[in-house]
Amino acid sequence: MSLHGKTALVTGSTSGIGLAIARRLAQAGADVFLNGVGDEAQNRALARDLGSEFGVRSEFSPADMSRPDEIEAMCRQALDAFGRIDILVNNAGIQHVAAVEEFPPEKWDQILAINLSSSFHTIRHLLPGMKAAGWGRIVNTASAHALFASPYKSAYVAAKHGIAGLTKTVALEVAQMHITVNAIAPGYVWTPLVERQVPDTARARGITEEEVKRDVILAAQPTKEFVTVEQVASLAHYLCSDDAKSITGTVISMDGGWSAQ
Ligand code: NAD
Repeated sequence: MSLHGKTALVTGSTSGIGLAIARRLAQAGADVFLNGVGDEAQNRALARDLGSEFGVRSEFSPADMSRPDEIEAMCRQALDAFGRIDILVNNAGIQHVAAVEEFPPEKWDQILAINLSSSFHTIRHLLPGMKAAGWGRIVNTASAHALFASPYKSAYVAAKHGIAGLTKTVALEVAQMHITVNAIAPGYVWTPLVERQVPDTARARGITEEEVKRDVILAAQPTKEFVTVEQVASLAHYLCSDDAKSITGTVISMDGGWSAQ
């Protein structure tokens, strides 16, 4: 499943699942364009090191995925750097846990912008190049919450259901153009995103943080194991390969059996 000669842009790729996907694509030979917020110098160094480790070109943009103007500038920068983008992974995401009537409206807007609308914008800017090249792969990191809900995560669940709809719609629009569009729906992966939601979940449910980890997070998945970032990256890599060319418009669960219950 070599990706030599291919170029990839992965949003939210300075941590967790996105970083693992960027590493995996680089390992397979793709040039990678990384993105994320936080310490910019550290993130630039991360991208540089990843490029040197795998002998591929690597670039970085600190674009904020809640800002359409910054998304457009990032896409332009990626096209200028690599000539074209063959693989787009929409992965940036945040979470907030609170009862719906206590959910801060600005948090709702931010989650919808980062977890859903940013994917519309990146697709809008990068799909024309894929159509011109006659090949493309779009992989959206959805969530088990693209398929069903959990209490106190209204914005996240709404955004992830939206990603499922966007994935299917765009897949149909480009089905005859050798471009596939899919979403991955992971269960719980122990990343900073999950770690940060533990105190708020404890507050919302009126239980301890230990109970959240044991009875809410680990209990959700019949395997009683976390999904790992490497497993998600491996599936993303497969979806980018030619072997997966007949898989499009799907939301693929990787959730230890959670959605089967
Ligand atoms: P993480 O916190 O480790 O990584 C999030 C990444 O998104 C980071 O690189 C961060 O810099 C970036 N990011 C956050 N806000 C951004 C913004 N405004 N603009 C640009 N980048 C931004 O989290 P993760 O768990 O690896 O999550 C990655 C994706 O996987 C998210 O879409 C999340 O919803 C999804 N997901 C995670 C889990 C899980 O259990 N961890 C499960 C299902 C789906």
